[in-house]
Amino acid sequence: MDLGLNGKVALVEAASKGLGKASALALAREGARVAICARTAADLEAAAEEIRHETNAEVLAVPADLASAEGIRNVVAATVECYGAVDVLVNNSGGPPPGKFADVTDEDWRQAFELLTLNFVRSVREVLPHMRRKRWGRIIGIQSSSVKQPVAQIDLSNGIRPGIAGLMKAIMPDLARDRITINLVLPGMFLTSRIHPDLAAGGAHIDKAVEEQLAPLAATIPMGRLGDPMELGHVVAFLASEQASYITGAVYQVDGGSIKSNI
Ligand code: NAP
Repeated sequence: MDLGLNGKVALVEAASKGLGKASALALAREGARVAICARTAADLEAAAEEIRHETNAEVLAVPADLASAEGIRNVVAATVECYGAVDVLVNNSGGPPPGKFADVTDEDWRQAFELLTLNFVRSVREVLPHMRRKRWGRIIGIQSSSVKQPVAQIDLSNGIRPGIAGLMKAIMPDLARDRITINLVLPGMFLTSRIHPDLAAGGAHIDKAVEEQLAPLAATIPMGRLGDPMELGHVVAFLASEQASYITGAVYQVDGGSIKSNI
């Protein structure tokens, strides 16, 4: 199936590793021109080079801190300056640190709000004029299964992410008038450096020792394993496609069956 992404401009945030990088790679494989950002310039350039090498796609790497308004403004401006548009936004972040309610301070809550909620608000606000101008756009937010069901040990995520789903739903009708769709994907547990430091390189092939350490976690998932980041990247690419033109205001869990609720 041709996803109609050839030549489209996709900005993928927090994409030097993990789910962001997999999403950027999936979009680049479909012919999109890609801009990626993260804070660590060396990792970011390495990811850009890897994506260029595999796909021959144009990849712009813009170092930026997504917890700041200036960082987000800069990365959107650099994308528009380079490619003249932003057709697809994949909103993403590094995620908040673990911690139970009793251990989390007011400052932790403020920082997590900046990194998750304000990152979503600012990123959508910055790209919208460019999408409205073309009367076409795709916004996909990488959130977490915590939108539907609390996750163990990360109460910052449990407290903040469901509100982003509410906001997404609230702004959706106004965006739809300009043929801009907005959806969220909810990862369960994936093989990224967020889960284990040795997984920074990405991909489904992990060494035996790491596999053994993750076995108890894998046993809690109906599919019996953690996800390969590309399994989320492919869903992101589909939601960015022409074919997904009638899907908006939706949340897609990509979790190997972990979420226990009916809907
Ligand atoms: P990851 O492999 O650790 O990658 C995180 C990426 O975000 C890196 O490129 C990192 O680069 C970048 N980043 C972190 N903080 C940033 C900031 N302030 N500004 C710009 N870039 C930043 O993480 P992941 O597993 O892909 O997770 C991505 C998102 O999915 C997170 O929000 C996470 O909570 C969520 N999620 C992941 C899982 C999972 O199982 N992996 C499950 C549920 C939800 P720099 O550090 O260089 O900036």
